[in-house]
Amino acid sequence: GQVAFITGGGSGIGFRIAEIFMRHGCRTVIASRNLQRVSEASQKLEAATGQQCLPLSLDVRQPQTIVAAVEEALKKFERIDILVNGAAGNFLCPASALSFNAFKTVIDIDTIGTFNTSKVIFEKYFRDHGGVIVNITATLSYRGQALQVHAGTAKAAIDAMTRHLAVEWGPNNIRVNSLAPGPIAGTEGYRRLGGKFAEKASQFDTIPLQRAGNKTEIAHSTLYLASPLSSYVTGTTLVVDGGSWLTSANNFSALLGIASSSAK
Ligand code: NAP
Repeated sequence: GQVAFITGGGSGIGFRIAEIFMRHGCRTVIASRNLQRVSEASQKLEAATGQQCLPLSLDVRQPQTIVAAVEEALKKFERIDILVNGAAGNFLCPASALSFNAFKTVIDIDTIGTFNTSKVIFEKYFRDHGGVIVNITATLSYRGQALQVHAGTAKAAIDAMTRHLAVEWGPNNIRVNSLAPGPIAGTEGYRRLGGKFAEKASQFDTIPLQRAGNKTEIAHSTLYLASPLSSYVTGTTLVVDGGSWLTSANNFSALLGIASSSAK
């Protein structure tokens, strides 16, 4: 009976989070820039789960588009209980080749977009009713992942934001947590960041759980953070990576090879 607002819900991990939430009786709003993408996704989700899914267009870099989407969501469902900040952009690029604009764009979408969406939903609903925020981050900054200075910096800032907002909004009965996935098969992130190459090179053998993760595993962990099962959990980051960041190679030259072959 709850309502979840999921940015980036039209594809990849965000789509599977919407599906799993709907299978647990939640109605969803899935929002991203491409209205056709979220509209098609919502039809599939409704057909598969029998729950309602409202597709909306927004750009998390533009607060007025978020305000309009949140107002439309509240008009339809009259409540929002859960916000999942999943919208993001990423690619492999060495810092030396990264343009000023490319770095800024990733910070704008990931970090500032997460703040914008959280603040709008706080003002429009959570301040008076409480709620749960789950920010999808990453483990990239933990060991300074090569070719990921833009996304690693952006996601580390979101993990910091998670703690700041948990402190300030806890008294409003709002829990704020991050979920940091490892390599998740069948996603755009996996495709762009060398997942197939890692498979071929048997790199996942070095991960403690010896395989890539799947989207359902991320959705189940998000469900935990969004549900009352985690009612005393706030201001923390749940790493869902099979132990990957502890043991994975952070091989600068191999990653440079993947980046240049995928650019061809
Ligand atoms: P994805 O399918 O590319 O998802 C990203 C989503 O963000 C898309 O639906 C995109 O939709 C939306 N988006 C991008 N820019 C936006 C903007 N300015 N405003 C609103 N929406 C925007 O990628 P994914 O691999 O499933 O990743 C999902 C999340 O998991 C991301 O936060 C990612 O960083 C994180 N993550 C993924 C992995 C992995 O292995 N895949 C690992 C660690 C973390 P539109 O193009 O329609 O806007």
